[in-house]
Amino acid sequence: MILLLSLFTTLLLPLSVRTTEASNASLSYAPNYAIIGLDVEGEAENSTLVVNYIKELFDNYTYYGWNGNWSGNIVTPALYKYNAGFAELYFDNIALFSKGHASMSECAGGFNQSYIMTQTTHLYDWNYGSSAGSQAHELVVLWHCGTAMNYAPYTNMYCQSCQGDVSFPMAFTKDNTISLDGYNSTTGNRVFIGFEGWSPQFLSTEGLSNNCYYYHFCAALYQFLIEEQLSVSDALDETTRLVTEQTSFGESYIANPHYKNPFPENPDFNMSSRMRIYGNGNLGIP
Ligand SMILES: [Zn+2]
Repeated sequence: MILLLSLFTTLLLPLSVRTTEASNASLSYAPNYAIIGLDVEGEAENSTLVVNYIKELFDNYTYYGWNGNWSGNIVTPALYKYNAGFAELYFDNIALFSKGHASMSECAGGFNQSYIMTQTTHLYDWNYGSSAGSQAHELVVLWHCGTAMNYAPYTNMYCQSCQGDVSFPMAFTKDNTISLDGYNSTTGNRVFIGFEGWSPQFLSTEGLSNNCYYYHFCAALYQFLIEEQLSVSDALDETTRLVTEQTSFGESYIANPHYKNPFPENPDFNMSSRMRIYGNGNLGIP
């Protein structure tokens, strides 16, 4: 993290000030559920540092009335749902970040259900979407595996059996019209960043410049979003220029499908993987 902070000290710019009246909330989570073979030493600590860093960035931005950061075993499905309901009730817009592991299975209604793993139980997509409030978050970044999957625009993703919307993009944005190419889209009111296949661990270096890690990528993305007020697409481009050898996000390793298998002994785990941007990438933080 010291490297991270020194890397960005030179980038600090004066905070911009908005004039409209609104009060937003940011919610940042790192449940730090560990999976042997995926998490190396330091992954949990770095994840906690990054959610703390994101909260600090939002704290320094006066437009936000409530900024929460939670990590470790206090992050439970009940906490995610309680915070979402509270934030939707009392704040105008919500920026949500979560980092950790996720997976999917078939639900009782026959849908593919996705779930975030916490140290207690799983947080299912439909369960998040059916908790109090509309849950229509404006900016959602789910740095977990497979979080951009199972979303089918303009279709009904409501499972009668589970009584909620399946797929994380639908469960967190409540919008079945968001673009699947948010990096190039300029329409819509929301933006969702997730992953197809495997999401890189924060201590992974794949596709990055020497001495750069994905926790740099993530922290830089938020720094560009909050301190420089860039759109998601522009912030991704700037982040790419900072931590990779490429000049635009579209050219980067993480944006393009690549096969990956952290458990080579099991071919079923070989999955096409990439970061996906859904919705309107021309939007920045709400
Ligand atoms: Zn279901």
